[in-house]
Amino acid sequence: MSQITVIIPTPLRGYAEGQDSIVVNAGTVAEALTELTSRYSELSRHLYSEDGQLRSFVNIYLNDEDIRYLEGRDAAGVQAGDEIRIVPSIAGGVATAPEVKDVEFTQEEMRRYARHLILPEVGPEGQKKLKQARVLLIGAGGLGSPASLYLAAAGVGTLGLVDFDVVEHSNLQRQIVHGTSDVGRLKLESARDRLLDVNPEIEVETHEVRLSSDNALEILTEYDIVVDGTDNFPTRYLVNDACVLLGKPNVYGSIFRFEGQVSVFHAKQGPCYRCLYAEPPPPGLAPSCAEGGVLGVLPGIIGTLQANETIKLILGAGDPLIGRLLLFDALRVRFRELKLRKDPECPICGENPTVHKLIDYEVFCGIREAEVEQRGLEAGVPIITASELRARLDAGDPIRVIDVREPHELNICKLDEAELIPLGQFPSQISRLVGGNDEIVVICRSGRRSAYAVRLLQDAGFTEAYNLTGGLLAWSDEVDPTMVKY
Ligand code: ZN
Repeated sequence: MSQITVIIPTPLRGYAEGQDSIVVNAGTVAEALTELTSRYSELSRHLYSEDGQLRSFVNIYLNDEDIRYLEGRDAAGVQAGDEIRIVPSIAGGVATAPEVKDVEFTQEEMRRYARHLILPEVGPEGQKKLKQARVLLIGAGGLGSPASLYLAAAGVGTLGLVDFDVVEHSNLQRQIVHGTSDVGRLKLESARDRLLDVNPEIEVETHEVRLSSDNALEILTEYDIVVDGTDNFPTRYLVNDACVLLGKPNVYGSIFRFEGQVSVFHAKQGPCYRCLYAEPPPPGLAPSCAEGGVLGVLPGIIGTLQANETIKLILGAGDPLIGRLLLFDALRVRFRELKLRKDPECPICGENPTVHKLIDYEVFCGIREAEVEQRGLEAGVPIITASELRARLDAGDPIRVIDVREPHELNICKLDEAELIPLGQFPSQISRLVGGNDEIVVICRSGRRSAYAVRLLQDAGFTEAYNLTGGLLAWSDEVDPTMVKY
């Protein structure tokens, strides 16, 4: 047995209490790794697959030699003073300037990239860096569409896409990587076909999963740069934390209605998303684009800025948006830049980090609690299905139908029998409903707002009040397919 040092790479330090090296007593490489993983069991999951094999993206070096090329591999003997180095196959971000290997361009590629090749800031060297780069786009939606199209056109050699959604008609207003004929297809397949049509010289790798704490590190570690095009807070914090733990730059973009934000979070050189927003807003406080709407061209502008930042990081050209938050207001056409500081107290990239591994981001963002609350609310509310309501209205039963959506939503679709009382005005209008003998059915888009309104009616003493379960979405499915879904 000899004392040897195991060097832990940045991405895995979080699983070894932040240490960059650990001294163990061992006679062979295998013993050293066993000793290491018995002390830090979390490391085991990252180094080995379920069947006990060293993961394909992890290499082990003994002093300067890759043990894969040593006889006897794990059984290789070690001596006092030896160093074992764990090296993920794609180590570090591009900010450490990747070595430009000799990449040959075909005549066709020379023609394709001609306008880049004559730019001094790009040139053949820069174009080679682009070809060697591996960029992961989280989401093939509003932001991912323009970002992926421009990165493909620019010749970024490998684009990874993470998405599990299907193309819907309501996506086409802004998700320009997809076409009308793609409705119903997986976004991944639709995007891959389009990107390869834009540039057949590149590789597109698809990951059909919901990004989670279980798969994020494994997927992200294979790429140099991550482009965050997510539309929800749990995934945003997940992407941030995974990028910080892996030491990768995170090209961030977000959009809502007419406003967008762009930045580059790279914890090695500046702040991260948690330095900017330590905690997510409570669920329901910040509406999603599905609820609040978004100007179609806005993700085009923000996603294109993300592509620009990504290309600059790959080339090492210009000033990246590290430590700066760019805000864009589409209505006033105004850009504003805020200085971002690294928060020394940041729980993941600060001086004394408390987050060393990925957590449950739905719990962190309060999503589970909100869901349980919503289920509890809906559970205590009597319901009527769309087909039942249609049948009873057709039978001429005395039913008063109240629509609690916002007035502008009625322009999209409505039930002729319904009267409008937006939810915000509902409490003050309840007295209007008092005294009638009719049963009351409350409706909205999905059945959530109307459940809340029925609860208010119950509290006011109504016993014959029902919620249209599933809302107008269910009406469209069960009763009238011409009812527009939104
Ligand atoms: Zn931070």
